[in-house]
Amino acid sequence: MNWTLVGASTIAAQYMIDAIRAVGGGEIRRVVSGAPDHAEAYARTHGIPLSGTDLGEALADPEVGAVYISSTNEKHLTQAMAAIRAGKHVLCEKPLAMTPDDARQMVQAAEAAGVVFATNHHLRCSGSHQTIREMIDTGRIGRVLSLRIHHAVALPDNLQTWRINAADSGGGVIPDITVHDADVVRFLTGEDPVRVTAIMAASGMGQGVEDSAMSVWALPSGAMVMSHESFTHPFAGTGIEVHGTEGSIFARDVMTQRPIGTIELVTGAGREAVPFPDHNLYEYGVRRFVEATEGRGTPAATGWDGVQSLTIAHAVREAAQTGQTITIVYGDAA
Ligand code: NDP
Repeated sequence: MNWTLVGASTIAAQYMIDAIRAVGGGEIRRVVSGAPDHAEAYARTHGIPLSGTDLGEALADPEVGAVYISSTNEKHLTQAMAAIRAGKHVLCEKPLAMTPDDARQMVQAAEAAGVVFATNHHLRCSGSHQTIREMIDTGRIGRVLSLRIHHAVALPDNLQTWRINAADSGGGVIPDITVHDADVVRFLTGEDPVRVTAIMAASGMGQGVEDSAMSVWALPSGAMVMSHESFTHPFAGTGIEVHGTEGSIFARDVMTQRPIGTIELVTGAGREAVPFPDHNLYEYGVRRFVEATEGRGTPAATGWDGVQSLTIAHAVREAAQTGQTITIVYGDAA
């Protein structure tokens, strides 16, 4: 299955082009970008044969079966809808769209068209998060009481563009990072938060958008989540803790794009290091997507997973904007 890249992005350059090529089974035939010079230079740099700005022309290519969308967030909706109409399978970056309703529209259109639609939530593709989930599922920490997410990082200089100053493009740390943390919580617990309360701030980087957020979520089981995201914390490190009635999991440096970090389990029996697989996160996601297009299994994160994570992120922002505790309404979902 050959691919078209929609968006001449950093994430494709750093991870996804290599991941698609590593999984194999097809070529990256074309990159579509908003700027012709950028598209051409990008194609040259990455050995992609075709480039251009015409999405319609790209989607008319019968040799292409899948589209990877990694443009800025406000473009995802129209690009995904066009790809779906053209009968292409779609792997779309998070956040799927600017609003949950738009995201829902994309996923429903893909279902109606019979194409695979996936969300590129990479953290659930990591051996670390998969191992934590297995530990929870097999009762290693008893009943889950709470999760604490530490995801305050320093946004690299080269990414200090639309993310920090363009609300219209989907900037802000909540659509960028909180949306990933929402997916992690859903993946680890199998629960969708029901209420959130939050504060957000521009703490030195954000211009018209938030660069930091802290929020507290209630899960249907009664478990609580404390989540911290930021672009302005160079030395905080990342991690997640899951605390249960019989034990606690401490995972450090695992809210990341690479298969790194450590997991420790603390119980009445003591403290133990827990090993986990170190496969490439993005290759795992691409492989699951390709298998789904071949009728084998489902994507690692489906379109509906992307709708749910975006709904949670939106509720966090609404809670921060209004100062209210928000009851999350998910609408029609899977
Ligand atoms: P970039 O800022 O690198 O690129 C986004 C778009 O900006 C490009 O597609 C391009 O638009 C335009 N652009 C970038 N550089 C240039 C240039 N030199 N000249 C002209 N236009 C340029 O975005 P990211 O890679 O950081 O993010 C893209 C998407 O991927 C977002 O939705 C983001 O949320 C998501 N993402 C997901 C990650 C994950 O791990 N799942 C990690 C990082 C990002 P165009 O092609 O239209 O011209």
